[in-house]
Amino acid sequence: MAAEGSVLMEVIRDMGIEVPSMCYLKEVESFTSCMLCVVKDRKSGKILPSCSLEAVEGMDIISMDDEVREARKSALELLLSEHVGDCEAPCQLTCPAHMDIPLMNRLLAEGKFHEALVVVKKDIALPSVLGRICPAPCEGACRRKSIDQAVSICLLKRFAGDHDLEADMSWMPIPASSSGKKVSVIGAGPAGLAAAYQLELMGHHCLVIDRNKIAGGSLRKEVSPEELPPVVLKREIEHIAALGVEFRLGSEVDAKQFLELQKSSDAIVVATGKGESGVGAWGLPMHPKGVEVHGKTYRVGDTAVFVVGSALKPSKLAIRALGQGKEAAFSVDQFLKGQAVTGEPRLFNSRFGKLDRAEYAEYLKESKEGERLEPAQKGEGLTAEQVMEEAARCLHCDCRDLKNCRLRLYSDAYGADQKRFKSEVRQLCTKQVQHKEVIYEPSKCIKCGICVRLTEKYKEDFGFTFIGRGFDVVVGVPFNESTAEGLKKVALEVADACPTGAISRKIESL
Ligand code: SF4
Ligand code: SF4
Ligand code: SF4
Repeated sequence: MAAEGSVLMEVIRDMGIEVPSMCYLKEVESFTSCMLCVVKDRKSGKILPSCSLEAVEGMDIISMDDEVREARKSALELLLSEHVGDCEAPCQLTCPAHMDIPLMNRLLAEGKFHEALVVVKKDIALPSVLGRICPAPCEGACRRKSIDQAVSICLLKRFAGDHDLEADMSWMPIPASSSGKKVSVIGAGPAGLAAAYQLELMGHHCLVIDRNKIAGGSLRKEVSPEELPPVVLKREIEHIAALGVEFRLGSEVDAKQFLELQKSSDAIVVATGKGESGVGAWGLPMHPKGVEVHGKTYRVGDTAVFVVGSALKPSKLAIRALGQGKEAAFSVDQFLKGQAVTGEPRLFNSRFGKLDRAEYAEYLKESKEGERLEPAQKGEGLTAEQVMEEAARCLHCDCRDLKNCRLRLYSDAYGADQKRFKSEVRQLCTKQVQHKEVIYEPSKCIKCGICVRLTEKYKEDFGFTFIGRGFDVVVGVPFNESTAEGLKKVALEVADACPTGAISRKIESL
C-alpha cells in the first residue's frame, strides 16, 4: 500500500518495475520535461508522465506495453533531434579492436604512462607490435585531421607498450579466477594470440597450438625484421604466456586431432590464418573464401567452435585479426558461461559527423596547437616528452560520461533512431572548460533543469538557470558568467546528477 501523496513513479519503482527517467531527481522538484517515465492509465487509455502524478487508491496503471514503449522511444528521439555530441570518438569507432584512444591520450598527455598501458591492454594484446606495423585506420578517422594532421595514435600506443617492455618489472594484467574451462586455440598468429589473451584474462585456460615451431604466425612471416624486430614480438608473446596461456608449437592439427580436441576442450577457436591446409577437411561448413560462421559471434552453427582471422576471409590487416580474436573471446565466454551467444554488444552511439570550421576553436580549447610530431628517424618511436606533447594534440572527441549517460543507455534499450526527427541545421558544439573539475557542453544538454534546481538548493552564488524563452531557451550560468563562477560549491555533485554528458567530470575514473 503506497503512502498518501507518493509519486506514482516511485511507487512503481518500489514494486521492482523499472521506469526510465532523466529529469527526475528525488531531492529536488521535478520539471517533468523528458517524458520518459510515461505509463498508461488503463481506464482512460491516456499516456501520462508518472513523475508528476500522485498514486491514489484505485489507480489501474499499465507500466509497459507497445504504446508505452513507443511513447518512450519517441521521447528519446525528440531529445536526440536537438542533441549534438559523439558518445565514442571517431578514432575509437574505427579501431577494429575498439580501443579507448582518447582516454589513452589523456593519460599519456599527463605523463601517466602506466595507466595508459592499462587502458591499451584492455583491448590490445600486442601494443608494441601493432604500434610498429598497423596502418592505423583510426588515424584516418581522426578529427584533428580537419584542423591540421591526425594525432599520431599508433606511435602513442607503441610508446605505451615499449615503455612497459623496457621496464624492469613490466606490468601484467591479473586474470579472473579460474572457471575450470579449457579452450584450444589453433593458430598462434595475431587472431589466435588475441583470443587466448582475452580468454585467459576471463579465467578460461587456453592451449595455443601451432604447426610452426615459433609463435607469431603472419607477424613473423609477412613483416620484415626491420619493421618489427623479432625481439619485440617475442617479448609480447612471453607476456601472454606469463598470464598462463600454454603453447604447443610445431604441432600439426589434422582432422582426427581436430575431433579429439573437440572432445577434450570446452571450446575451440580456429585462427589458422590464410593458406593453411587442413581446415577444409575438418568438417566445418565452408564458403569459397573460408569457414562459414555467424557474422557477429564467429560461432560455427550452434557448435563449440569459433573461427577468426584469415580462416574466415583472407586479410592482411593484423589489427583486424586481433580485433576479431578479442570479439570471438567475448562470444566464447558467453558460451562457456551457458549464456545466449550474442557477441560483443555495440551500444547506441550519438554521432554528428564532421566538425564545422566554427567549432575548431571550441575543440582546440582542450588541446594544443601545433603540427603532428614525427620521430627523429623513420621507424623509431617518439620520446617521452614528444609523447606527452603529441597526446596533448588530441581534441577529446569522446563524451566523458559515456558509461553513465542515461540518454545513451535508454536510447540503446529502446532502439531510438537519432535521425528520426533530425533538424536540417544542427546546432554548433561549444565547450566551457574554465572550471578545473568539470566541463559544460551545452549542445548535449536536454534542459532537464536538474542543475538549475541543485544549484538553487545549495545556494550557489550564480548557479545555472534557464536563459531565454520557448524553443530558444538554453541552460547556462546567468549574466554571462563562466562555469567556474556558476559552480563553486557543488560542481561534482551537479556533474554526477546531470543525466547526460552535458556537465561531466574532467577526469573520468578508470
Ligand atoms: S551526452 Fe550521452 S548521448 Fe550525448 S554524446 Fe554524451 S554519452 Fe552520448
Ligand atoms: S582528436 Fe583525439 S579523440 Fe578525436 S579522433 Fe583524433 S585521437 Fe580520437
Ligand atoms: S546541463 Fe543541466 S539541464 Fe542540461 S542535461 Fe545536464 S542537468 Fe539537465
